[in-house]
Amino acid sequence: MTGISDSFERPINYLRISVTDRCNLRCIYCMPPGGVHSIPHSALLSYEEIYAIVRAAAELGINKIRLTGGEPLVRAGLPELVRMLAPVEAIDDISLTTNGTLLSHYAAELKSAGLHRVNVSLDTLKPDKFEFITHRNKLGDVLEGIEAAKSVGLTPVKLNMVVMKDINDDELLDFAGKTIDYDWHVRFIEPMPVAGEGAMSPQFVSSGDVRKRIEVLGQLEPCLPRVGNGPAKYFRFPQAKGTIGFITPISDMDFCSQCNKLRLTSDGKLRPCLLAEDEIDLKQSLRAGISSAGLKRVIKQAIASKPLRHYLAESCAVQSRPFSQIGG
Ligand code: SAM
Repeated sequence: MTGISDSFERPINYLRISVTDRCNLRCIYCMPPGGVHSIPHSALLSYEEIYAIVRAAAELGINKIRLTGGEPLVRAGLPELVRMLAPVEAIDDISLTTNGTLLSHYAAELKSAGLHRVNVSLDTLKPDKFEFITHRNKLGDVLEGIEAAKSVGLTPVKLNMVVMKDINDDELLDFAGKTIDYDWHVRFIEPMPVAGEGAMSPQFVSSGDVRKRIEVLGQLEPCLPRVGNGPAKYFRFPQAKGTIGFITPISDMDFCSQCNKLRLTSDGKLRPCLLAEDEIDLKQSLRAGISSAGLKRVIKQAIASKPLRHYLAESCAVQSRPFSQIGG
């Protein structure tokens, strides 16, 4: 196995796989207000097809896999997919991004199938606000899911909070404060525009602003050596048990310089960049009987076509597909 880099010499070692576009929540920043049409089951990649792609990608130098969606745990038999991927040579990290609502049911099975860790989306600690943001009354299930993940060792459990002005930014100190006394790993995410919204989310709050507001609790120190596989930058309060990460796709013009990812959509498109529309249809090739060498050629082509950065700020090139389909 050798590593692979894109045209800008960024090493690419991370594949994010969306296993379904379906979700049991309706988060205001993820699903367009009119809802979305679900992709028919026959158009989703089968687990065998995902396995074939992961094997080919691993031979090219991908060693980290994240399963996402939609909500990955609403797809039947997800632990079985983990069990298929875990033994693939060279894959040394398999993680899951989930809304946590079903995690208490699956945590133990996922762990024994070979999952390493989970990220859970948690935007509020208040039940009524949870219902406002997600249109479902399931905060209790999420909190149970987080505890279940910790108790079976799917750790570190990272909590993703999309910070939205006048919606949940009154809870910044509650989330940040938890990292001092508990083993909480909170990541503050800048809201990205959803399909049809324009180049900037109306609820945008920059991570710089978040940082200023939470530093009333103490001065953040960078976590060294640098941690994580992704774009988050991590800090901690002095003596804190947990950490704080900032994910800054909008405010940091240098955000894409460390990008190490390729995405696979639930309907089998390789997507070189979350925020650019280009996709390469891998499913069609797979169903036409492409060889493993052919698969590797297409994956290399997708990696070579990764753009230098996203162009949200200066263009009108706004997402046409919701994140639930691409895999956020
Ligand atoms: N259902 C899973 C979940 O809730 O984590 C996985 C899919 S969700 C699309 C993955 C991540 O994308 C979540 O952490 C979510 O908060 C984030 N996300 C979705 N839409 C976003 C947006 N418009 N801006 C920023 N983050 C977003």
